[in-house]
Amino acid sequence: MTTLLTLYFYLLGVTLGSFYNVVGLRVPNGELFKQERSYCPNCHHTLSWYELIPVLSFFIQKGLCRHCHQRISSIYPSMEILSGLAFAFSYWRFGFDLHLILALLLLSMFHIIVVSDLRYMIIPNKVLIFFTVIFIIYRVIVPLEPWWGSVVGAMVGLIGTALIIIVSRGGMGGGDMKLFAVIGLALGTKLLLVTFFLASLIGAVVSITLLGLGIITRKKPIPFGPFIVTGGILSLYYGPVLIKWYVTSFF
Ligand SMILES: [Zn+2]
Repeated sequence: MTTLLTLYFYLLGVTLGSFYNVVGLRVPNGELFKQERSYCPNCHHTLSWYELIPVLSFFIQKGLCRHCHQRISSIYPSMEILSGLAFAFSYWRFGFDLHLILALLLLSMFHIIVVSDLRYMIIPNKVLIFFTVIFIIYRVIVPLEPWWGSVVGAMVGLIGTALIIIVSRGGMGGGDMKLFAVIGLALGTKLLLVTFFLASLIGAVVSITLLGLGIITRKKPIPFGPFIVTGGILSLYYGPVLIKWYVTSFF
């Protein structure tokens, strides 16, 4: 039964992920509801159902559009697979618990944001506002202990990141600041701080590696959103364990 349900959550993540790809690509252009059917971004040919099967279509078409033969970015199937794995892992980690709902909501927001940030270097306000409302509702129904932890978390995310932006003059942008605020609202201050620490650490390691390999240059900034998202996911799953380990090791 557990295996079957894990598979179910994997397929749910892949399928929703396919939809989140479209949302992440279209929201920054204001195109979300303009054209209902998906189309090739290069030749604008409307895609048939068999070209829209998550992950599978990409591999069957060898990563090319069937009409203009333009290469389709491998970001999209990769993101579908990652969301599938994260959904399945969330079920495995939390079981049928309110935490599972929180995890799936966060993963959904993260997927959309990563797509937008990688494609346009934008974390769309519309997406952040939508999920702010969702997380406020969630935290009214399932309050943190104490309940105002969400409010403090959001404030720390906003003010803390603003200070870093001022001090570092760049590196992070307004979108990153608002994303940290939403994570603080959803997870509270402690897990926000874990997210922050992990995002900075992973961001630094990856940036230095990419600079060293000559894949990026100092002048061309890379989007920070994916690092925040990675930190947020690790914090969601292992934040409490990390905090416990840190407190018992150093205090
Ligand atoms: Zn095409």
